[in-house]
Amino acid sequence: MALSGKNSPSRGTPLEYTRNFGIAAHIDAGKTTTSERILFYAGVIHKTGEVHEGAATTDWMEQEQERGITITSAAISCGWTTADGPFAKIPHRLNVIDTPGHVDFTAEVERSLRVLDGAVAVFCAVAGVQPQSETVWRQMNKYNVPRVAYINKMDRTGADFFNAVKGIREKLRGNAHPLYIPIGAGETFTGLVDLVKGCAYVYDESDPKGMKYAKTDVPADLKADYEKYRESLIEAVSDFDDTIAEKYLEGQEISSDELRVAIRKATLSLDFVGVIPGSSFKNKGVQMVLDAVVDYLPSPLDLPPMKAFKDDGETETGVEPDDNAKPVGLCFKLWSDPYVGQLVFFRLYRGTLKKGDSLYNPRTRKAERVSRLMIMKAMDREEIDTAYSGDICALIGPKEIVTGDTLCAREDDLVLEPPSFPEPVISMSIEPATKADQEKLSIGLQRLAQEDPTFRVSSDQETGQTIISGMGELHLDIIVDRLRREFKVDAKAGRPQISYRETITAPADGEGKFVRQSGGRGQYGHAVIKIEPNPGKGIEVLNEIVGGVIPKEYIKPTIEGIQEAANNGTIAGYPVIDFKAHIVFGSYHEVDSNEMAFRMAGIFALKDAMKKASPILLEPITKVEVVTPEEYQGDIMGDLNRRRGQIQNMETKNGICTIDAFVPLQTMFGYATDVRSLSKGRASYTMEPDHFEQVPANVLKEIVETASRAPARS
Ligand code: GDP
Repeated sequence: MALSGKNSPSRGTPLEYTRNFGIAAHIDAGKTTTSERILFYAGVIHKTGEVHEGAATTDWMEQEQERGITITSAAISCGWTTADGPFAKIPHRLNVIDTPGHVDFTAEVERSLRVLDGAVAVFCAVAGVQPQSETVWRQMNKYNVPRVAYINKMDRTGADFFNAVKGIREKLRGNAHPLYIPIGAGETFTGLVDLVKGCAYVYDESDPKGMKYAKTDVPADLKADYEKYRESLIEAVSDFDDTIAEKYLEGQEISSDELRVAIRKATLSLDFVGVIPGSSFKNKGVQMVLDAVVDYLPSPLDLPPMKAFKDDGETETGVEPDDNAKPVGLCFKLWSDPYVGQLVFFRLYRGTLKKGDSLYNPRTRKAERVSRLMIMKAMDREEIDTAYSGDICALIGPKEIVTGDTLCAREDDLVLEPPSFPEPVISMSIEPATKADQEKLSIGLQRLAQEDPTFRVSSDQETGQTIISGMGELHLDIIVDRLRREFKVDAKAGRPQISYRETITAPADGEGKFVRQSGGRGQYGHAVIKIEPNPGKGIEVLNEIVGGVIPKEYIKPTIEGIQEAANNGTIAGYPVIDFKAHIVFGSYHEVDSNEMAFRMAGIFALKDAMKKASPILLEPITKVEVVTPEEYQGDIMGDLNRRRGQIQNMETKNGICTIDAFVPLQTMFGYATDVRSLSKGRASYTMEPDHFEQVPANVLKEIVETASRAPARS
C-alpha cells in the first residue's frame, strides 16, 4: 500500500497503521477484563491481573478498584500485527481508550468517544443487549464511531451468541453479522470458526493463557452453519461493495482478502457491524478482536475532517491529519499524577509536536509550554520527544487547561468543536468539616471541576453556601470521596436536590445599556440582541454586528456577559439552557467604553430579552426500567403513576415483567426502598438521566416557593 504524503519521514508507525479505539460497554459486560487481555496479548504486560483481585491495569484509581467500576478513561498504547489479510505482518500502533460503563459517568464516555476513531462494543453473551447498552450505542451513533461487536462470556452457562447478534440488530438497529461463529457454548466453548478465512481456531486447553490455538478445518458439525452465516455475511457487505456484489450474483469464489476489504469499507461507512464471540476471562477470542481492530477499524486518515472554528465564532474549517501542517489538538482529560503533577491527555489531530514547544490556548489566549511528552503504557510510561498527527499522548507543563480545551499554533487561533456534555441533574451543598479545611476544599473542588465538565461548583448567592452539581448521587459521592483521598479534605455534603433548568419558548429582543457618568472617566456599553429557542443544542451566541457599531474588542466581553447572565434564570434563578442569542446592534463611546461595560451590557440585554421570551422551568426526567415478577406489576405501575411517571413500554415473558417509563427525577428519591417493599424485594430497576421537560404548573409553584426559601441552584 502506498503511504500518504501526510506522514512525516521521521515518525515510527505511519498514520495508516495507527488505530485509536475504545472499548465501550454496559457495566459488567467484561470491559475491564477485555481491555486487560488486549494489553496482555498486545505484549505490553506479562502477567494477567484479574479484576476481582483489583489489579487490572486500566483501573487506576483506588476507589475504582474498590467499587469495581471504571471511572476514568485511560489511554494506553500497545502494538499488534496480524498474520494475514490486507495488513498482514505490518506492525500497527494501537491506542486503547478505556470508556466507563456506568451511566453516572456518561460525560467520560462522551469525551472518550470524541477522541477515538473506532470502538469495540462489548456485550455479555448471557444477558445480550441490555437497556444500558443502548445508551452507549446511541452515543457511538452520535459521534459516528465505526465499530465491531464482541460477545463476551461465551463460557458461561446460558451463553447465546446468535441471540446477542439478534439483539444488536433488533434493539440497537445495527446491521450486525457474525465474522466468526463460536464452537460450542458455556463449558464446551472451545474456539471460533472464521467465516472470512474458512477455517477454525481451537484453543489448546493445556494453555490457560490462550496463547496457543490450532488452526483447523471447519468442524463437520458446524459446516452447515458456516455456509449459512458466510453467505449472509457476503450478502450483507455486497450491498456496499460492487466487486463483491457482482461476484456474489455470478456465484464466483470470493477471496478472504476481497471480503476483508469489503467488510472494512462497510464498517467505516457505518453500514455494517462485524460480530465476534469470545470469553475474555477464559482467554478465548481476544486475538480475533485485535485482528478485527486492525482490519476493520479506521486509521486517523479514514475519518472526515474535524470541525473547527475560528476565534470570531464565524468561520468553520476542517482539520485533517497531516504531520507537515501546524499542530491542533484537543485536551480530553486531566489527570493529577502523584509523581509528575498534572498530565493533560491530548489528541493531536494535525501537525507535529515536539517536547519544549509552546502551544496557544484560544480560550485563555495564553501560550502553554509543553515541557515533557509521554505515552502511557500498561505498566509504565514512556517519555517521547515528538508526537505526530493522530497520536494520543500526555502533556506535562500546560497549566491553565480545562477538559475540552483546544491547543494550537497561535497564528491559527482555532477551536475544535468540544465534546458536548450533559447538564447536571443533582446538586448538594458542601462544607468543610473544620474551618481550616475551607481553602483546601475550594482548591480541590476547582481542580475536580476542571477535570470533569459534568461536575460543577457554584455558590448560592443568598446563603453563600458552596453547591456542587453532577450527574447523580453516585457521581457526587465519588467527588466527596476523592476530596478526602486526594485533597485530604473532610467535607460534609447536604441532602441531594434536583437541578432544575430554565429555557425560553419564544423569540424576543433585548437591550442592555450600561452607562455611568460620574465626573472623570465614565462607563459606556450598549448591546441589542435577539434570542430564540435552541432545543437540545445548548447556548450559542452569534456575533452579527455589522459596520463596527460594537468594536471587535468588545464582542468577546459582550458574549461573556450573555453567558454569565444565563447562569441565573428569571423564574427561580436556575441556569438557562438551549437558547441562541444574536448580537445585532449596539453603540460605543470613544473614551468611556471598556470591556467591563460591555460585559454588563451583555448581562442586561439577556435579562431583558429573557423576560419577554416566555421562559419555562425544566426538570430532569429519568429513564427507568423495572424488572419484576408479574404479580407485582400492578402495584409497581400504580406507584410509577403516582410519581408522575409515563409508562413507555411493558413486556411480560415467562412470568417476568419489564416496565419502561420516563419519571421525573424529583419523585425518584428513595425509590430503591419503595420498590423493594412493593415487591417483597424481588423487583430490580435501573435508572439514568434522559432529558429535561417542562415542569407541570402545580409542581412549578412548589418549586419556585422552595427555591426562594432555600435556594440550592446550579
Ligand atoms: P466491566 O464492568 O464491563 O469492566 O466488567 P469486568 O471486566 O469488571 O467484568 C465483570 C465481571 O464479569 C467480573 O467478575 C469478571 O471476572 C467477569 N467476566 C468478565 N469476562 C468474563 C468472561 O469472559 N466469562 C466469565 N464467565 N466471566 C467474565
